[in-house]
Amino acid sequence: MTDALRSVTIVGGGTAGWMAAVAFGRLLGPAGTRVTLIESDDIPTVGVGEATIPPIRTFHAMLGIDEDAFLRATGGSYKLGIRFEGWTRPGESYVHPFGQIGTDIAGVPFAAQWLRARQAGLAAPLGAYSLEARAAETGRFSRPIANGDSPLSRIGYAYHFDAGHYAAFLRAQAEAYGVVRHEGLVERVERGPAGIAAVHLADGSRIAGDLFLDCSGFRALLIEGAMEAGWTDWSEWLPCDRAVAVPSVADAAPLPLTRAIAERAGWRWRIPLQHRTGNGHVFSSRHMSEDEATATLLAGLHGEALAEPRVIRFATGHRNRFWSGNCIALGLAAGFMEPLESTSIHLVQSGLQHLLRMLPAGRPAAATVERYNRIMTAEFVRIRDFLVAHYHLNDRTERFWLDRAAAAIPEGLAEKLALFHAGGRIFREADELFNETSWLAVLTGQNAPVSGYDPICDAIPIETAANRLAQIERVVATSLTHMPSHAHALARLA
Ligand SMILES: Cc1cc2nc3c(=O)[nH]c(=O)nc-3n(C[C@H](O)[C@H](O)[C@H](O)COP(=O)(O)OP(=O)(O)OC[C@H]3O[C@@H](n4cnc5c(N)ncnc54)[C@H](O)[C@@H]3O)c2cc1C
Repeated sequence: MTDALRSVTIVGGGTAGWMAAVAFGRLLGPAGTRVTLIESDDIPTVGVGEATIPPIRTFHAMLGIDEDAFLRATGGSYKLGIRFEGWTRPGESYVHPFGQIGTDIAGVPFAAQWLRARQAGLAAPLGAYSLEARAAETGRFSRPIANGDSPLSRIGYAYHFDAGHYAAFLRAQAEAYGVVRHEGLVERVERGPAGIAAVHLADGSRIAGDLFLDCSGFRALLIEGAMEAGWTDWSEWLPCDRAVAVPSVADAAPLPLTRAIAERAGWRWRIPLQHRTGNGHVFSSRHMSEDEATATLLAGLHGEALAEPRVIRFATGHRNRFWSGNCIALGLAAGFMEPLESTSIHLVQSGLQHLLRMLPAGRPAAATVERYNRIMTAEFVRIRDFLVAHYHLNDRTERFWLDRAAAAIPEGLAEKLALFHAGGRIFREADELFNETSWLAVLTGQNAPVSGYDPICDAIPIETAANRLAQIERVVATSLTHMPSHAHALARLA
């Protein structure tokens, strides 16, 4: 590479490719960097990936994306959290809400005071203190409303959207920033001193670049095919390796939440959009056949299926090197974990944000590459541990679930569970996506064992804490009455 980053070549036009194209086009286009995206009409995108988490709003803000225009273009809906149904045992459920739960009580974190009061029978279930959880379950939604310190002023939310429409929406934005789309099949990757010199297409063209972004999906054409970055396999921790997906007719009154419904050997998702509902069944092929998984999915639909069910095979894990030479993998080419907490699109965003902060002016320094790879690996590891916690802490009786409860767990998760057990303490690691609130929601939702409580709570009498909890619960209930229905919020977009 020369001193200036003259050209960036992106291979792949799925969600990852077009997210990268908009970001690079908007931020580097004005500096004169040429951005080219290559995609093949013969190779479809994965076509799923429709539930997100709140940081996507920061990404959209960075790109100047108008929320209403985006939701209209993608048939999108709002999301306030995920409801886990049957993950402890059939019939039980809990919401992992976005946003804050409760507020500190007398300078002590809410979680600690709630756990103490809960153990004494003086507190309601956690969801009663979260406006997002209550609104999600009752089908209400509002964007934050400036209102002093009310929970209405800090509503945490994300979106569901149609993946195909999202790629088209981003493409229009990217092209407006001067990104050039090249339709064609990459047949060969040419190596060079910096790593990759060019890609050769079936039509005979050769496309060079200073920097290459591999967004080619599970194929990982550049990062693995050419750079041989290597793969770390996590099927031992997360053994689901298939999904079957099908759209169905839209719900009349869609809840602003993703549903994750435990099944005999995996789980089903339900994602409400304006024009349809996305459904899928993630399962372990060692425990269930594709036919049975498909039958289970179809039996669980609320309305008519709108297409034939489609099976997607995947492996759980990540590249040993996300960045190698002048090639960086994003999206499915970088790695994959099942969509239990809707983290894949976030990992594309996060990769892009780190990358944009580390962009090399010339040949990337070894320290830059090393740092990027270390950060991304840590992000993957933390998310993996969070996902494994959902499976590990179950009380179900089917073989798949018994195996998950009995299986060894990663060291980091074992430490988290031990700390929680001894006094209900939760510590967020550096570079960890999920904060203490998310861990609290999932650990208590999954009935993680806990003994005792943080002694700092004793600074105030338990009755005082219980009164304060009751007050928070009332504020949440009152705030809820100020939120219109989710259906109404969506109708306003039209
Ligand atoms: C079952 C399932 C459910 C998911 N659910 C969620 C979710 O709810 N939330 C979430 O955040 N994420 C989810 N994901 C992940 C999400 O779908 C992906 O992270 C996201 O779509 C990015 O995919 P991608 O762009 O990397 O790959 P793809 O969509 O596969 O795109 C690959 C692109 O590369 C191109 N390409 C490939 N080979 C060539 C070639 N030789 N020449 C030219 N072009 C080529 C293709 O044409 C295509 O444009 C899910 C994934 C799966 C498998």
